[in-house]
Amino acid sequence: MLNDTQIQNFKSTLRGALITPQDANYDEARKVYNGMIDRRPALIAQCVDTADVIAAINFGRENNLTLAIRGGGHNGAGLGICEGGLVIDLSRMRSIRVDPQQRTVRVEGGCTWGDVDHATHPFGLAVPTGFLSTTGVGGLTLGGGLGYLTRRYGLTIDNLLSVDMVLADGHFVTADANENADLFWAVRGGGGNFGVVTSFLFQGCPVSTVYGGPIFWPLEQAKHVMRFWRDLILTGPEELNGWFGFHTVPPVGMFPAEHHLKKMAVITWCYSGDLNKAEDVFKPIRAVAPPAMDFAGPIPLPALQSMFDGLYPPGLQWYWNADFFNELSDQVIDLHIQHASQLPTVHSTMHLYPINGAAHRVSQTDTAWSFREANFAQVIVGVDPDPANNERMIQWSKDYWSALHSHSAGGAYVNMIMDEGQDRVRAAYRDNYPRLVTVKQKYDPANLFHVNQNIKPTELVPT
Ligand SMILES: Cc1cc2nc3c(=O)[nH]c(=O)nc-3n(C[C@H](O)[C@H](O)[C@H](O)COP(=O)(O)OP(=O)(O)OC[C@H]3O[C@@H](n4cnc5c(N)ncnc54)[C@H](O)[C@@H]3O)c2cc1C
Repeated sequence: MLNDTQIQNFKSTLRGALITPQDANYDEARKVYNGMIDRRPALIAQCVDTADVIAAINFGRENNLTLAIRGGGHNGAGLGICEGGLVIDLSRMRSIRVDPQQRTVRVEGGCTWGDVDHATHPFGLAVPTGFLSTTGVGGLTLGGGLGYLTRRYGLTIDNLLSVDMVLADGHFVTADANENADLFWAVRGGGGNFGVVTSFLFQGCPVSTVYGGPIFWPLEQAKHVMRFWRDLILTGPEELNGWFGFHTVPPVGMFPAEHHLKKMAVITWCYSGDLNKAEDVFKPIRAVAPPAMDFAGPIPLPALQSMFDGLYPPGLQWYWNADFFNELSDQVIDLHIQHASQLPTVHSTMHLYPINGAAHRVSQTDTAWSFREANFAQVIVGVDPDPANNERMIQWSKDYWSALHSHSAGGAYVNMIMDEGQDRVRAAYRDNYPRLVTVKQKYDPANLFHVNQNIKPTELVPT
């Protein structure tokens, strides 16, 4: 138990705020994106700079507190917050500096991807990221980072040049290809296991306006469309990306009323090549079957990346299930359609994200992210505003996942799973796991940073 003097002393070392359960803004400060997560930390340190982060880590370690690191707060399992303990909240560390000459982007640890898009777009640059703008740079990057530019420019970590970090012992280090190279290898996929990243340095990619957006097809066409997409996305030009989803059309103004609440197959496209060629690229896509709705066209990348923010506001209930797949056989496609036709709530969905092209040109051992040969990341999420629907949507998500798991590559993307136990963490890293343990033993031997998909320093002694 901490006494008031200890807390006041800690508070006086911070430039940012220290929030306790007695404060009026405590409930707001402890909220995370997934409304299913309801944890009550003892302290939330809203750090504003690296000195605050150092103070918070030292205070947590010296007082044996559970430590959680909060970036964007989006993690499905709620790994940005803890029960009791101290949250190192980076959400006030949001500065970004673009270097247009070097085409690099320096991003503080608490930024969201919307912050990054806003800062880079005027320079005609983008960092490969995810499909919503409200997701945090911290968690998404450290877990790998899948998005619209994956086929062309690789995972987010493939565009990471360097990180500034505070380690468990309170020391500040830089990790890149030359300095602390073992740490740099580990943070590219190994999550928040090794310390608090106070800033990321990314390579910017020359992407500005793209041709993209969702095209919807009736569920009756799903088998045909899904097979077409599978073949196209494995072989088509790397400038073309598109993730496949099953959705219920929300009853909102942007969709014609006759489609409201119908279940549909949706591919959300992003073509980042020559815009003059885009209509030709999309001709076979539009010819595969008559679309029910077609929203694809020229669009600034930040607008595409924030297109679904309004449909998925913070606070909904989310239950995640995920796996990687090397291939999608016709049998697997049939199973998808069987389960997708039972989407349990309007927000619930299944997505398949392609992972080939540039992401495959990085080897399995170059970064901690192991599944370089996988072609698809599948995620099945039960989502709804009302907790009363949780049981139903969780069961649907579990049943759907179970029906497909034996066809999967055997592991899942760590950023898209819940708290599923150590076997699933090991399965996510496969042969890279022992090397991650070695790095963990060196940089965080006492496992101070364990509120994550945890690499356990004591789990095995690598030979
Ligand atoms: C609606 C939605 C859409 C998504 N879309 C995508 C997508 O398109 N592509 C994709 O790859 N993923 C996607 N994700 C998954 C996402 O990558 C993870 O949820 C990720 O954990 C979110 O990072 P965060 O910083 O927002 O989360 P947080 O909950 O803040 O943190 C998650 C984990 O990362 C650690 N962490 C965060 N910041 C730091 C830091 N600076 N230093 C050290 N550790 C840190 C935390 O300790 C925690 O363990 C999506 C998630 C949601 C909810």
